[in-house]
Amino acid sequence: MALVTYSYEAPVSQSLFERAAAVTPGGVNSPVRAFQAVGGTPRFMTSGAGPYLMDADGREYVDLVCSWGPMILGHSHPEVIAAVQDAVSRGTSFGTPGEDEVALAEEIVARIGPVEQVRLVSSGTEATMSAIRLARGFTSRPKVVKFAGCYHGHVDALLASAGSGVATFGLPDTPGVTGAQAAETIVLPYNDLDAVRAAFAAQPDEIACVITEASPGNMGIVPPEPGFNGQLREICHEYGALFVSDEVMTGFRVSRTGWYGIDAVVPDLMTFGKVMGGGFPAAAFGGRRDVMEQLAPAGPVYQAGTLSGNPVATAAGLAQLRLLDDAAYEAVDAASEQLRTEVTEALTKAGVAHRLQAAGNMFSVFFTDEPVTDYAGAKAQDAFRFRPFFHSMLEQGVYLPPSAFESWFVSTAHDDGALERVADALPAAARAAAEATL
Ligand code: PLP
Repeated sequence: MALVTYSYEAPVSQSLFERAAAVTPGGVNSPVRAFQAVGGTPRFMTSGAGPYLMDADGREYVDLVCSWGPMILGHSHPEVIAAVQDAVSRGTSFGTPGEDEVALAEEIVARIGPVEQVRLVSSGTEATMSAIRLARGFTSRPKVVKFAGCYHGHVDALLASAGSGVATFGLPDTPGVTGAQAAETIVLPYNDLDAVRAAFAAQPDEIACVITEASPGNMGIVPPEPGFNGQLREICHEYGALFVSDEVMTGFRVSRTGWYGIDAVVPDLMTFGKVMGGGFPAAAFGGRRDVMEQLAPAGPVYQAGTLSGNPVATAAGLAQLRLLDDAAYEAVDAASEQLRTEVTEALTKAGVAHRLQAAGNMFSVFFTDEPVTDYAGAKAQDAFRFRPFFHSMLEQGVYLPPSAFESWFVSTAHDDGALERVADALPAAARAAAEATL
């Protein structure tokens, strides 16, 4: 499929991108930031305030990406910035324990019932990588079950049929992951309990854990069917495996207690990231005490990190979590609902077949008539309609994720003014999607 060339001006971003491409593969430090799936020049951002981002060419955008989830209070929230400034003024890394690490761990344990103990790390990838190592160490079993379209970071064992950038760019199984590593990963269709039962029946003593996004957001939003997570837990326990719920995206975002607060299924291990870092590299994994106590130095499963529990990152995360009370979630939910109504109205009016799917306040648009329940369904959408839709919104000052397979995110800062700007942009974008051709 030829890439459409979009020519509206972004000269400063263009020249930055040329410099970047000379010294960085593809010009970006994380593939989903590139505009490869939509064409054109990625916008280089220089600042953010509330619901807005400013690019290097001086254009302002309503931000519906929120740094891929973390910025749930909007950009540059004064209390988060003050906490960071205070922490920075005392030093940036000590390589020793510090009080904010304890306070952040206590905040997570207090909020999330199934988490009795937690270990802080620096990225969601580290959290899931460590959680599956721990599950393997605890059970003395080698294999991991994951679902097609779920993304758990770029962990070797978890990249098979992954969502996010792997879905966006339609990548086959990634070079660099050995056959041996891939062979330890069993990939199943999402929402398919029969497939899970069959996998366990075929190798009852081999599977260490099932890892799933608590509610997938990396193939677009594809929520679990009622009872799916609960049944996964039951099947895992029947066979002596652990149930690992990846809440890196949903945790502290879709409710005070993440997706666990919505479906109440108790996992053995959970992973967190994004919101809990307040825009800094902080993530975590935690769960049952008897499992977590297998981690070094309490137990034999090794896991470590020079910058784990970094004082600036923990100060930012703590400040953000402490501001996230019930009123904050009500505000994010309300903004999300208003936006979803506006998107549906605009696409319906333009005659564009679509499904808007939500998981709490996270949502995404699929260009199809059919409900999407798995990765095959997500891929079957008319993704070509997304490019002109995306560029029309961008041109009108709305920054969407540059992929038809990603969640949209809002924040407490998305006020009437910001939502009105989005509403004003939607009709033209919907018409552009309607007129799109393959
Ligand atoms: N797990 C999920 C569900 C995610 O959405 C992501 C990132 O998008 C990750 C893990 C990996 O997190 P990170 O990008 O911080 O490594």
